[in-house]
Amino acid sequence: MCVVCRERFEQKALFRLQCKEQQLSSHSGVGRSFYLCSTCIDDEKKVTRALARICKSGDIKYLSTQLKEIIADVRQS
Ligand SMILES: [Zn+2]
Repeated sequence: MCVVCRERFEQKALFRLQCKEQQLSSHSGVGRSFYLCSTCIDDEKKVTRALARICKSGDIKYLSTQLKEIIADVRQS
């Protein structure tokens, strides 16, 4: 389920991320993770709000930068 729109998608249509000590990253296989769908991931405003909540961080700008890097990595591979 996407944490932003709360809709259900096939796993492969979702980005799996995690937030550890306020650092956003792709899911490493350990710890809690969450999913974002490909529609929401492009909605910067909505997605950063959700990330701030999940990461318990108020640093929206930093989260947004981290997210962009992760998306770029995922889309390249
Ligand atoms: Zn979504």
